[in-house]
Amino acid sequence: MKTLLITRLLPEANIATARQHFDVTIREEESAGLTPAEAADAMKTYDLILPTLGDAFTAEAFEMAGADLRCKVLANFGVGYNHIDVDAAKAAGVLVSNTPGAVTDATADIAMTLILSTCRRASEGERVLRAGNWHGWGPTQMLGMHVTGKTVGIIGMGRIGQAIAHRCHYGFGMDVVFYNRSAKETAFPARQIDDLAGVMAAADIVVVAVPGGAETNKLINGDCFAAMKPSGVFVNIARGDVVDEPALISALQDGQIAGAGLDVYAQEPFVPLALREMDNVTLLPHLGTAALEVREDMGQMALDNLIAFEEGRDLPQAV
Ligand code: NAP
Repeated sequence: MKTLLITRLLPEANIATARQHFDVTIREEESAGLTPAEAADAMKTYDLILPTLGDAFTAEAFEMAGADLRCKVLANFGVGYNHIDVDAAKAAGVLVSNTPGAVTDATADIAMTLILSTCRRASEGERVLRAGNWHGWGPTQMLGMHVTGKTVGIIGMGRIGQAIAHRCHYGFGMDVVFYNRSAKETAFPARQIDDLAGVMAAADIVVVAVPGGAETNKLINGDCFAAMKPSGVFVNIARGDVVDEPALISALQDGQIAGAGLDVYAQEPFVPLALREMDNVTLLPHLGTAALEVREDMGQMALDNLIAFEEGRDLPQAV
């Protein structure tokens, strides 16, 4: 039986399935990821690894593992794999897979949560109420942005971007504009604009849904925020490194944009105090896929890739 390291606590159903196929070791950690040195050790010790967000399978980790590398597959739990240096993995002969599709609807739902919560000042209102500072309904009290009929700008019209746009169009009667690396046809009315700042300028609400990593690092910079409407709301459910976080903070502080809704941060779990102090910012602790059935589907998909490898088949979700 091949040895498998699962780098974080997973749902019980996934662990039971894993034990039917592999000699399983579970790292009893809820959230702390592997350092590059720990990732190197793991790759020297186990045949297979099921890693996730925050596990630093960097070029340095592969270098440290060197000729002692034993691991054959990194079956990532999650669609985003910017914590794995895929080129270094390929060079070392390690296969990598991810969990596309299993996360799409749940992450789109969190984007809608952030849009609605930020535009309609929901978390701010709840803080007011919980602090005992609500003294009754009033016609001009806590007025936010009406969401229905506005224009949403999607940055990265992939699986999640399309699921968000679909919800915005059919659920909220919104116009959809988008920016995407390649030309994209959509099953709903949407206008592709080949200029990132153009999308930011046209939209009332901008949602980022591109993958993280070197290609998109700080794609959303100060110039992008300067292009937005002063009434604009910025939402990021993708990865923190896609956004120049200090530039976002300045744009919020200077009133260049009206608010932000964030599920991801540049240096998780660190969230800058400046963001935490602003009432017009909704902050979630990376909840995109946080529902048991979604996490079970992600775990099953990661395991299916490991089982395929074990049975000599191609990885169904190879990256
Ligand atoms: P996907 O289907 O691969 O979509 C990514 C889209 O981004 C594609 O349409 C791609 O364009 C576009 N893109 C890539 N690089 C670009 C660039 N430089 N400029 C413009 N567009 C670019 O991925 P997905 O399943 O929608 O997931 C997207 C990301 O969401 C994941 O990688 C992950 O980091 C993040 N995520 C976050 C959570 C959370 O918990 N908050 C949960 C799930 C996923 P092409 O058409 O040219 O390929």
